[in-house]
Amino acid sequence: MTTTVMILGAGFGGLELASTLSERLAGEVDVTLIDQHDAFVFGFSKLDVLFGHQDAEQVRIPYRRIRMPGVEFRQERVLAIDPGRRHVVTDAAVYDPDIVVVALGADYDISATPGFADGGFEFYSVAGAERLRDELAAFRGGRVMLAVLSIPFKCPPAPYEAILLLHDQLVARGIREDSILHLVSPQRAPIPVSPWASIALERAMAARGIAYTKHHRIYGIDPDARVAQFKDHDEPYDLFIGIPTHKVPDVLVEAGLTQDGWVAVDRVTLQTPYAGVYAIGDCAETGIPKAGTFAESAAHVVADGIVRSIRGAGELASGGTGLCYVEFGHGDVGRVDADFHADGGPTGPFLGPSPTYAAEKAEFGAARRARWFGA
Ligand SMILES: Cc1cc2nc3c(=O)[nH]c(=O)nc-3n(C[C@H](O)[C@H](O)[C@H](O)COP(=O)(O)OP(=O)(O)OC[C@H]3O[C@@H](n4cnc5c(N)ncnc54)[C@H](O)[C@@H]3O)c2cc1C
Repeated sequence: MTTTVMILGAGFGGLELASTLSERLAGEVDVTLIDQHDAFVFGFSKLDVLFGHQDAEQVRIPYRRIRMPGVEFRQERVLAIDPGRRHVVTDAAVYDPDIVVVALGADYDISATPGFADGGFEFYSVAGAERLRDELAAFRGGRVMLAVLSIPFKCPPAPYEAILLLHDQLVARGIREDSILHLVSPQRAPIPVSPWASIALERAMAARGIAYTKHHRIYGIDPDARVAQFKDHDEPYDLFIGIPTHKVPDVLVEAGLTQDGWVAVDRVTLQTPYAGVYAIGDCAETGIPKAGTFAESAAHVVADGIVRSIRGAGELASGGTGLCYVEFGHGDVGRVDADFHADGGPTGPFLGPSPTYAAEKAEFGAARRARWFGA
């Protein structure tokens, strides 16, 4: 008898889990992969949209291209989950699978920062990246503030990548000297797992005259006065870019799957407190940063768990590993080899930055595109 598996969310984690189950358990599982959208977009493609290297249509990879034996993709929106009964309701059907894997990612809570919806810009969504791209085209110089508005957020390097790439763009347009770039973050270091990458990023910003205020938060902005509000003072800006507050999709809160805002899982098996219900990627609280590369390694842990539950034996991957590529501008990319479960504590050796890793990053994207979509 085949085991039915429902994967909720066809993002980085859901796609990797579907392709791993297709490879390892063909004929033993029927996998249904659900997503509300009709196409996948890599997180890093949003930087390409922001800086005009590709448009929104070019970065979309349609789900209809999925060709994985034993996997059926359905474009549906998940409306409710009863984890105790493994019962899933979408806008098109109801399901009672043997195994449910929640991979719904993180949503943005723009309203969590007063003034941000009215006067701020973001590039963490494709629509936001397009809007900011157009705003930058009209920008003629001034004070740009880029602020991480709360922790946790996806892809810890992304704010630093954006400000370094913005520096390059303003230089190319001849308006860098008319601009002040300032990055603000509540974190104590750009990439806490990697002191070497953090130092490299801090040096890169300093070398380009980019101001960096760490371990400080912005609580709101006043779009009329054009000031950002710190705890004890205000600072003026002409263009405010925020990394929005992240939150788990509402459907997971309503399902009773969350604890302290994120889906609670066993950190070894990634199973929720409910039998046969797992969570991977950005929606889950695993003590590991939110990034596609870690969603992928979580997918391998759950794939092992499903193999073990079907065959009664098998190793469980440790998860928590991943390669993070970091854009430094000038065509240079660095690489952090993160391992959050290393003996002796998390490690993150850093390589580069150099054009070598730019080529490797392109290969990283192409390999996943080929694996998940066959092209
Ligand atoms: C600017 C930027 C740059 C980044 N760069 C990198 C990088 O270089 N390397 C890296 O590893 N990571 C990077 N990331 C982070 C990466 O994109 C995410 O961490 C990763 O996509 C998380 O995978 P996931 O499967 O958990 O969630 P997602 O990939 O977000 O997938 C979740 C899916 O669930 C679907 N969904 C949500 N709610 C519902 C619902 N109710 N019904 C149906 N479907 C639903 C969504 O449509 C989505 O497709 C970057 C992110 C950004 C914003």
